[in-house]
Amino acid sequence: MDTFEYLRPQLLDPALAAGAAQNAYYIGGGTNLVDLMKGGIARPAQLIDVNHLGLAEISALPDGGLRMGAAARNSDVANHALVRERYPLLSQALLAGASPQLRNMATIGGNLLQRTRCDYFVDRGFAHCNKRDPGSGCAAKDGLNRTHAILGASPQCVAVNPSDMSVALLALDANVNVRNAQGERRIAIADFHRLPEDHPERDTNLQHGELITSVDLPKSNFAAHSTYLKIRDRASYAFALVSVAVALDVAGDQIKDARIVLGGVAHKPWLASDAAQQLVGKSLRDVDVNAIGALAVQGAQPLAHNAFKVQLARSTTARALKIALALA
Ligand code: SF4
Repeated sequence: MDTFEYLRPQLLDPALAAGAAQNAYYIGGGTNLVDLMKGGIARPAQLIDVNHLGLAEISALPDGGLRMGAAARNSDVANHALVRERYPLLSQALLAGASPQLRNMATIGGNLLQRTRCDYFVDRGFAHCNKRDPGSGCAAKDGLNRTHAILGASPQCVAVNPSDMSVALLALDANVNVRNAQGERRIAIADFHRLPEDHPERDTNLQHGELITSVDLPKSNFAAHSTYLKIRDRASYAFALVSVAVALDVAGDQIKDARIVLGGVAHKPWLASDAAQQLVGKSLRDVDVNAIGALAVQGAQPLAHNAFKVQLARSTTARALKIALALA
């Protein structure tokens, strides 16, 4: 690991000023960043610890929503009474991720920024990775790509986003609040993560120096009919081969609003909006879950080793939908 300077500011303004420096990184729990530093993938000159800036609070918003400080731990959010009551989907997604020890350290802001676990990216022994070294090629495209993208990939990168939490946040229409020394802005979660296109080195639309300060969830009617279903190679401590968040707003026996989001299939959480739209206005008993599952993966383009993920995503969507409809 390279040497670096470690700063522990107690106030936001000095932290933001330090974060503007070239090659400065913010660090929360460090559960992904430190691994990347050990592997020589991330080489910060300065690490700015954001754990002492008062950003760990979880609080109700006056409009019925919820604000989660960026430094709040994954375990604290997952187990918070308001999250369990109003956003059980988020609680399920967080508890499906990592291990208890990691969830006790990992932060909401860090979870949003975690990087792909593509083997060719995390191991500098492989020379060709456009995400790590732009212009060097993509070893996964013609290599071992069993866990890689089936949707939204580009010739430059076929990696997937590893976050469970982000899949739930997209289903819940979250907003990400960010700040730098010049001011603050709000990014809709749908615009936060990026597809790889010609710049796979950029995972998000965050600008250098911007710090995530909190994530807001709007008031939600999804609590009674939502679920997060994650399929992986082993029962715990594994990333999703495919995951699905389903959130339904149901009145009587009619679906008024719906979200379906897939994880583990693309460079960002994948909003299956056409599939969700098909549900709106339907009676619970009239939903063809298999047809909706098929629609959720329309346009999928599997690689040499991951065609199974197309069928898996289809059937996982159907099953998650059954659970959310309380038909399972
Ligand atoms: Fe690198 Fe992306 Fe290719 Fe993996 S899929 S080797 S992260 S460019």
